[in-house]
Amino acid sequence: MQKVIQLAIAPLGMINCFLIQGEKNHILVDTGIPGSEAKILKQLRDHNINPEDISLIIISHGHVDHFGSVRALKKILRVPVLVHELDKEALETGIGMTETLNATSKFWDIVLKPQLTKGKVGACLPDIIVHGDEVFNLSHYGINGNVIHTPGHTPGSLSVILDNGDAIIMDLASSGILLGGIAFNNRMKHPPFHDNLETVKKSLAYILSFPANRFFLGHGNPVSRQLLEKYMHMTG
Ligand SMILES: [Zn+2]
Ligand SMILES: [Zn+2]
Repeated sequence: MQKVIQLAIAPLGMINCFLIQGEKNHILVDTGIPGSEAKILKQLRDHNINPEDISLIIISHGHVDHFGSVRALKKILRVPVLVHELDKEALETGIGMTETLNATSKFWDIVLKPQLTKGKVGACLPDIIVHGDEVFNLSHYGINGNVIHTPGHTPGSLSVILDNGDAIIMDLASSGILLGGIAFNNRMKHPPFHDNLETVKKSLAYILSFPANRFFLGHGNPVSRQLLEKYMHMTG
């Protein structure tokens, strides 16, 4: 049985990455902010996951809170890194995609943007590039599911749709208050930034065309299909 394990980069669901646990092999989705590798490896041990059974790292998009520790983790795990062509430059240069940081509120513009645009992350050459709207099947990496292109938050944002009804959509939506799940876990909200809200809406419709019923988020705790439908209407 496959399952998604939420790994905390910051407490209370404020920043998450995920492990997709398969029968034999597992996939890590995102790597948190720079310096998160020890935190991720510890949580894998706590879940009795052998890091040697991880077969792939998927980077959902080119923001530093998602690819910040990819260089370190690629070195430790010795596995390929997958990213979309439109966000790959962030990994190659180690510089997060600042041009896509259109704050969804003034608060984020002042509080968070400076944090995400300062400093440099270790560069990392990705191994697998997803092109255009190509659907990337994960069976070769031991997981029953697909990676799909869901732009809007950034041009190259990726989501993972699993055959078991779970989906990882990362920053296409958020839940909770501020950065995540401190309270109001059943409340949808915009993540701090979106590149293009119209495109987000189209990607949400694409996501909802799959029979998924639980959606894991980069900021906040997982939400139901009903809540995600509600969020789609919030996008205008
Ligand atoms: Zn993001
Ligand atoms: Zn994020």
